[in-house]
Amino acid sequence: MTCTKCQSLCASRTQIVEPDLPEFGRHCLVLVVGEAPGADEDAQGKGFVGRAGRTLHKLLEEYGLRRGYEYGCANIVLCRPPDNRRPTMQEIVHCLPLLAETIDRAQPRAVITVGETATRGITGIVGLWVNIKALREHGHDPRIAEMICPPEIKPVWPHGSLLVPIPHTSPLAWNRNAPDGRKWAEVGAEQIRRMVEML
Ligand code: SF4
Repeated sequence: MTCTKCQSLCASRTQIVEPDLPEFGRHCLVLVVGEAPGADEDAQGKGFVGRAGRTLHKLLEEYGLRRGYEYGCANIVLCRPPDNRRPTMQEIVHCLPLLAETIDRAQPRAVITVGETATRGITGIVGLWVNIKALREHGHDPRIAEMICPPEIKPVWPHGSLLVPIPHTSPLAWNRNAPDGRKWAEVGAEQIRRMVEML
C-alpha cells in the first residue's frame, strides 16, 4: 500500500508497517493494537517484533493465544514517528480509517490496546488508568461508544468486541508503578486474564 497523509512520518519511516491478521479462514479472536512501529518494526516491516512485542507475545501464549492463529497485530499509526515520539492527534486521526478497516476485516471478539496512546486513539479518553476503570465497568455495554467517544474517533470503535487496555510492554513502562501501587506488569497480566475469562 502507499499513503502520504502524514508528512513527518513519511520522512521518518522506512516502510509502512501493515497489520497482520490470522491466516485466511482462521477466526481472529483477538486483535492487538499498539501505538506505532518502533525501530525493529520499521526495519522488518512487521509489528510487535521488538522487545516490548516479545513480552506481549509471551504473556498471550501463557493463555494459549498464538500470533497468526488466535490473534493478529495492528497499530494506531502505521508509520514510525521520528525519534520514537508519540504520534500526534492529527496523525492518529489520519490513520484511524485504516485501523477501522482492519477491525472490520478481523471482526475480533476482543481488541487489546497496548499503552495509553493506542487506548486514547480509540476511546478518546486521556489516561490509561481512567480507561481501564471505565472499560472494566462499562466495557460490554454497546452504548459505551456513544457515551465516551468523540465523533472523529467513533467510527473505529470495535462494536460488539470487548475493549481491553493494557500498559505499554516496554521494560521501562512495564516495571513502573500503577496508581494503585502495583507494577503495571501486574495490572497488564490481570487485564489479559480477565479478557480470557470473558471470551
Ligand atoms: S501513519 Fe497512516 S495515515 Fe499517516 S502516512 Fe502512515 S499510513 Fe498514512
